[in-house]
Amino acid sequence: MNNRQHAQDAYDVVVVGAGAAGLAAALILGRSRRSVLVVDAGEPRNAPAAHMHGYPSRDGMPPAEFLAEVRREVAAYGVELVRDRVTAAEPDGSGAFDVDLEDGGRAHARRLVIATGLVDELPDLPGVAERWGHDVIHCPYCHGWEVRDEAIGVLYSKASGIHQALLFSRLSDDVTLFLDGAAEDDLPDADWQLLAAAGVSVVSGKLDGLVVSGDALSGVRLADGREFARSVFVVAPRMVPRDALLIALGARTKETPAGPFVDVDPVGLTSVPGVYAVGNAAGAAEQVVNAASAGYRAGATLNGELLHADLERVAERRRGGVFSAEGERAVARAREAHGA
Ligand SMILES: Cc1cc2nc3c(=O)[nH]c(=O)nc-3n(C[C@H](O)[C@H](O)[C@H](O)COP(=O)(O)OP(=O)(O)OC[C@H]3O[C@@H](n4cnc5c(N)ncnc54)[C@H](O)[C@@H]3O)c2cc1C
Repeated sequence: MNNRQHAQDAYDVVVVGAGAAGLAAALILGRSRRSVLVVDAGEPRNAPAAHMHGYPSRDGMPPAEFLAEVRREVAAYGVELVRDRVTAAEPDGSGAFDVDLEDGGRAHARRLVIATGLVDELPDLPGVAERWGHDVIHCPYCHGWEVRDEAIGVLYSKASGIHQALLFSRLSDDVTLFLDGAAEDDLPDADWQLLAAAGVSVVSGKLDGLVVSGDALSGVRLADGREFARSVFVVAPRMVPRDALLIALGARTKETPAGPFVDVDPVGLTSVPGVYAVGNAAGAAEQVVNAASAGYRAGATLNGELLHADLERVAERRRGGVFSAEGERAVARAREAHGA
């Protein structure tokens, strides 16, 4: 991805965000000979992690390497990729959109794909932010195998409950749930029974912070001075979608277990015609493979939508007897896009 100003100012689609979701949409649109601008601020969510797991054929690949490879694939189809930040996207009054970039540039797009991801708001506990993505983790599918059989601590919170402790008990026999000031009575009997069945230990008392030795987590310290040796600590971040552009466009949100997220249909269309949202911008549970899948679906849907919009306009003109050389060319392009 380079920093040059985008080469033209009118695109079929502007994709905001070049994580797996945005790049997958761009890949399909590029392969459909659509003019596409991808704008990316370069802060993918999994950047702190050394390796990406669970993506078939790419299991264990460094996240930055994965994205660089997809960017190369996307660029090969003529898609423009720029390193910049979209500061505003608004309707132009004709069903299309004006897009403002931080560097002062402006682009025009018939459709938008918003793939801006989310921000993990970490619990305010000393040591957590510093070790995030290394030995402070959240996801058993992303890092679980790598920490199997280790001494794992799990932070309890009302919002996350005991679920993570139970999940990580599949990976290690040495899992301790730290209640961090929550009362033992806060946990229903059913939770205690599940914790016991999973062999998870429980420690009451407020936490003071993580203990780091050299470049590794070595323990968890309680406010009363007790320390528990732990090499892994599991937290549940508050996952906040980067949805400012979507909200400003008027996209409807819905309540989810992770809080409000923009409401999308199965192909990623928001309540705003012409605006799609994919990946973590539209759902907290989207892992890399799901984000890529959502981007693919939105890209393919968008190509069909634009195709039909163009063909219907041409057909309409034809019916009105104003069929022109331009119309003929549009039909030819549509045929080509269909592979006819
Ligand atoms: C520590 C950690 C480890 C993880 N490990 C794994 C794993 O092993 N396997 C797995 O499947 N999942 C993993 N995940 C989850 C994974 O990060 C997400 O599933 C994935 O990043 C979602 O892709 P996305 O394209 O929706 O968003 P992202 O990858 O976050 O990409 C969004 C992009 O949009 C850009 N952007 C945001 N706003 C703007 C704007 N206004 N203008 C321009 N660009 C903008 C951002 O800078 C970013 O580059 C992990 C998550 C974390 C936190």
